[in-house]
Amino acid sequence: MIVILKQGVGTEIVESVAARIRELGLTPHVSRGEYRTIIGAIGEEQKILSQQLESLDGVERVVPIMRPYKLASREFHKEGSVVRVGGAAFGPGHISVIAGPCAVEDPDTLMETARAVQSAGAEVLRGGAFKPRTSPYSFQGLGEEGLKMLADVRKELNIPICTEVTNTRDVELVDRYTDVIQIGARSMQNFALLTEVGRTQKPILLKRGASAQVKEWLMSAEYILSQGNCQVILCERGIRSFETGVRFVLDVSAVPQVKQNSHLPVIVDPSHAAGKRDYVTALALAAIAAGADGLIVEVHAHPDRALCDGSQALTHEMFADLMAQIRNVAEAIGRKNITADNHE
Ligand code: PEP
Ligand code: MN
Repeated sequence: MIVILKQGVGTEIVESVAARIRELGLTPHVSRGEYRTIIGAIGEEQKILSQQLESLDGVERVVPIMRPYKLASREFHKEGSVVRVGGAAFGPGHISVIAGPCAVEDPDTLMETARAVQSAGAEVLRGGAFKPRTSPYSFQGLGEEGLKMLADVRKELNIPICTEVTNTRDVELVDRYTDVIQIGARSMQNFALLTEVGRTQKPILLKRGASAQVKEWLMSAEYILSQGNCQVILCERGIRSFETGVRFVLDVSAVPQVKQNSHLPVIVDPSHAAGKRDYVTALALAAIAAGADGLIVEVHAHPDRALCDGSQALTHEMFADLMAQIRNVAEAIGRKNITADNHE
């Protein structure tokens, strides 16, 4: 349930209400808004508890949250949340783009692509060091060596990085190097991993599982939020269907669904949905038109030589062109604050 405090109550009251919530066997999550503070009281919804909380000093009213996810719900947080990563911001009023190769392969190729995507307007560099491959015989990523290459580029270009963690035992290691921790589609329901990254202080990019419903995806976000990490960026990356012309089917409808039901920012990955570079730009533009808070796009200096997902990687030129088109679409629908302009 949500405990809405009276306007202007001081820290002492907030703390005493939170303490009472704890005494009642619930977990308090305080959210301070511009005008008032609300406290999510997470646990079993019971009328008697709600009545007791409603009678406390400083409490205006108590609202039950009927949904299975609580902290991720828009009822808990009416305004859209903004998650900041370096100079980039994911959430209302911004369109930010993460771009880079599927996997980190070698320092020179990574640096070349990082420079290209940064100068085209990407604000975060992506690159996998731990790759969740469908086949155990495919390239699995360079591990810590790859993280070091990302860290070098980060330092040289002053660009934040986003990289995936696939295993609970690597969370601490990845956390030490990255600015954004990516949870891949295949790990969306690895609850131990979600809990572990929820204990870090880093923004988490949570991809939607290929067969997950939007509500299941939001429940996964809830695992992270319930650990105290409220910096979750959702990412739609396509779902399974009978269609074989694309790798996955981009579910554009996930964007308005998330926006209606959750306060969390949602971005779109057109690359893994398309599976083919020729379709990536169209899907990216559709995502921006639908209201996505940003994109994550695979780009490679030489896609034909990529060790992973080369067929969907954009060339540097294609990416620069995509960024220009995004600006046009954003402007056409009245979304002004787009990537690279965020700094102006
Ligand atoms: C990736 O981003 O390279 C990746 C493996 O994506 P997904 O988890 O969406 O398949
Ligand atoms: Mn990939």
